Amino acid sequence: MIQHDKLYIGGQWVPSVGSESPSTVTSPATEEAIATVVRGTADDVNLAVKAARGAFDAWSSRPVAERAGFLMKIHEGLKARANDIAQAVTSEMGMPLKQSVRIQAGSPIAAFKLYASLVQSFHFEEEVGNSLVVREAIGVVAAITPWNYPLHQIAAKVAAALAAGCTVVLKPSEVAPLDAFILAEVVHAAGLPAGVFNLVTGRGTVVGEAMCSHPDVDMVSFTGSTRAGRRISELGSATIKRVALELGGKSASIILDDADFPTAVKGSVGACFLNAGQTCTAHTRMLVPESRYEEAAKLAVAVTQAYKVGDPFDETSTMGPVASKAQRNTVNEYIEIGLAEGAELLTGGTGAPEGLDGKGYYVRPTVFGRVKPESRLAQEEVFGPVLAIITYKDEDDAIRIANGTPYGLSGGVWSASDERAQQVARRMRTGQVDINGGTFNMLAPFGGYKQSGNGREFGKYGLEDFLEIKSFQFKR
Ligand code: NAD
Repeated sequence: MIQHDKLYIGGQWVPSVGSESPSTVTSPATEEAIATVVRGTADDVNLAVKAARGAFDAWSSRPVAERAGFLMKIHEGLKARANDIAQAVTSEMGMPLKQSVRIQAGSPIAAFKLYASLVQSFHFEEEVGNSLVVREAIGVVAAITPWNYPLHQIAAKVAAALAAGCTVVLKPSEVAPLDAFILAEVVHAAGLPAGVFNLVTGRGTVVGEAMCSHPDVDMVSFTGSTRAGRRISELGSATIKRVALELGGKSASIILDDADFPTAVKGSVGACFLNAGQTCTAHTRMLVPESRYEEAAKLAVAVTQAYKVGDPFDETSTMGPVASKAQRNTVNEYIEIGLAEGAELLTGGTGAPEGLDGKGYYVRPTVFGRVKPESRLAQEEVFGPVLAIITYKDEDDAIRIANGTPYGLSGGVWSASDERAQQVARRMRTGQVDINGGTFNMLAPFGGYKQSGNGREFGKYGLEDFLEIKSFQFKR
């Protein structure tokens, strides 16, 4: 069993100064304990913030090329540990290993390289009239991250913040903290100056809240639930911190009447079920024309039934378990809610998939048809493989339904014409829209409208989030 009993503060591995008992990391596939992890306290947060503050001036005033050099070293270090990262994430949260290699390890490793390059071409200064406008690192950043794409979420924050010249205190999720330790080991080996990056593991309500309330933290960058995001905003407001929030979603995939239905339905179901539905951008609502409902429903059922749910270390599995017992219970509760609301259960349902009724937090990929747009199943984030098919009368109706939730993270449009799809996409109140199956692009901004958050990650936009802006006026 893995034991992580030290925090990484001020360039050193140190025990917690508090006396919280460690947390246990559980494999969702076997329900067995795979690791114990130290739980920090508010006192550890004080030490980490002090270290980060102490390192800030020197780090932020280093030439950009030097900071980029460190990011490249971290990139190389992570690349050498790619296999460990994928194994760790699959063990702790259950994504099939084959997918973890590409998504859970490949993407964050690439993010460090991307920021090493982007920061060197970024314009930190510009002249406007009689002023010089300069962008400077905001200061000490508290990064708080979830369990669904653990290192990916961490990299989105840490790589951009370090590139910008900020120093960081990271608190990963207790459900999936293992890869944060791999990152800290790599950072240490890369020789990053002491205090530039610090890791304090522990409870959200203890370590997370202490970070958000700390007067010497300049910015909180948070990814997680809308519920926790609200609390974090409240805490940050006492000291007027910048609070960047990447929150939940209830994204819609709109299939227009001229789309190629087999491709569009397959793509929509895939965008809902990736990572067993535990993706903030999951396309959990599939919107189809009323006249094509039967055809779309039949196709969705066939695609869903082709998923092979099973051991995430088995090469043939295309869906693993959900990340925790609590998550499994939530998914099954929402399936009950769908049934109680009168939606048509087309495939799946509560309980374990066939042959998986022993150990493991497995759920059945589920599709509901004729879901009412205002029902709870169509409004609330399930965070599991549950798809709601909703019918619409015409394009205006589709857009009204797509925009009719408190969220605004993502969405999709399928059409024979990219141009027509784009016209519909422009009317969607979301931060990103995938057109005809378009996929995630790290150079583009990522973030939400409405209650899906604020701020943007990735690309140069992610860098901008960690910068302050200042102007000098000259008498001319
Ligand atoms: P969560 O909100 O429970 O926890 C996220 C992190 O916040 C964890 O590290 C947790 O310990 C910490 N936390 C919890 N309460 C806190 C508090 N009061 N103060 C400070 N920190 C606190 O979310 P989760 O269950 O880990 O992740 C799932 C959620 O994350 C989903 O709602 C999903 O949509 C969202 N998410 C959003 C994005 C995005 O980019 N928009 C990406 C991934 C996940």
